[in-house]
Amino acid sequence: MSNYYYYRSSQRGLGRIRRRRRREPRFPFLILLLLLILIAAILVLGKNTGLFVPGRATASDASESSAEETGSLPEETTRSAAEEILRRADRLAAQYDYDAASALIESDASAASSDAGKAALARYAEAKEGLVPQKISDIPHVFFHTLIIDTSKAFDGDSRADGYNDVMTTKSEFLKIMESMYERGFVLVSLHDIAHEVDDTESGGKKMASGEILLPEGKKPFVLSQDDVCYYEYMEGDGFAKDLIIDTDGRIRNEMVMDDGTVSVGSYDVVPLLDDFVEEHPDFSYRGTKGCLAVTGYNGVFGYRTDTDYEGKNPNIEQDRETVRKLAEALREDGWEIASHSWGHRDYATISDEEFEADTQKWQDRVAPLIGGSDIMIYPFGADVGDWHPYTSDNARFERLYSEGFRYFCNVDSTQNFVQLGEDYLRQGRRNLDGYRMWQDKTVKNRTSEFFDVDEVFDPARPTPVPDYKGG
Ligand SMILES: [Zn+2]
Repeated sequence: MSNYYYYRSSQRGLGRIRRRRRREPRFPFLILLLLLILIAAILVLGKNTGLFVPGRATASDASESSAEETGSLPEETTRSAAEEILRRADRLAAQYDYDAASALIESDASAASSDAGKAALARYAEAKEGLVPQKISDIPHVFFHTLIIDTSKAFDGDSRADGYNDVMTTKSEFLKIMESMYERGFVLVSLHDIAHEVDDTESGGKKMASGEILLPEGKKPFVLSQDDVCYYEYMEGDGFAKDLIIDTDGRIRNEMVMDDGTVSVGSYDVVPLLDDFVEEHPDFSYRGTKGCLAVTGYNGVFGYRTDTDYEGKNPNIEQDRETVRKLAEALREDGWEIASHSWGHRDYATISDEEFEADTQKWQDRVAPLIGGSDIMIYPFGADVGDWHPYTSDNARFERLYSEGFRYFCNVDSTQNFVQLGEDYLRQGRRNLDGYRMWQDKTVKNRTSEFFDVDEVFDPARPTPVPDYKGG
């Protein structure tokens, strides 16, 4: 428990240092002055103790030698700055953004005029020529729940084990799936890459326009999402991470309670595991995109008990809310999108109008302000507010969600890739890559062979047969 507070308080400390530095521009000047005094002192000391080569360490040389030092610094700084620019440009190019990569090099005279810079510009121009616009109607969307890290705890035979076995994916399965999809040429894209809102000159309002996704021959776009990124209370002690945090290096990680009760910081769920994977394989991500995280509100967000219901129960609620706001910003910066998964994990297809209205309002009041709002609705249980026909204005629930700013709607369809570009929305079906789906694929009918070989992926730690528990 003490580790937990250690990490959180050091993050707050970092934030303070960064702000203070910005407000005190004289700080570096003072350091420089102190350094000069120190150098002068060492030079005088060096002369007296014979540490320096005779002739260098004379009093009259002191100013000359420091001029030499500072004179040589800018050149080196420029060289390493140009190298850094080329390195960053190569990463942009690896993620298929050749225009941004070229613009970055061209923004720096020294990088642009270097041989390496010229070669990179030629390489990017050639690669750009080979890009192919992707058909958006056939883009798969796969999703996961919180990953099982410790299978012995998740599958311990208690009342929740069947549910976990059905709807969850283990860490080893997730990593094998990502590896296989990467090898097969899949590339992560976002819902906003598939379509985006534009001005409709005819009506004077807005409409949805299909996006242009440009990938090299042989690459295939796909969307990834994760549901219920809340680390619910009921999951405690069952072998999952406990929350997301920003670590002391500014990276997004998980905290997980180990067997001895200590809290370990590491990659214990989809976000940091996929971040690590993309770090190693940048070409798995289109322009830095990672995935979409769907959150409910009733147990708070990202593992923090931030909901109004915890007021008076969670003594750190205001700090936790601030942590969630910072996490949401950091996640977006890192290529993640955040979606609504309703406030109370409700079935939007079947609940009463009153319940639907209350739940929608609760998400807007209690969750949206913490995560910076969202235009993506990921239906709990995959329960859509309409059938497969395009949404129309006489669908009151669609209209209500639209009025709250939702433009992207995701249900569940394990049988096919389903993308529907409506006049003013985008709808996509999602394919569950969980225990039940994989067990079915092994034994009855295979629906995931497009992505991986289920016999290589299926975790032998799972109890079989995997029951149909119908979670969501
Ligand atoms: Zn869910």
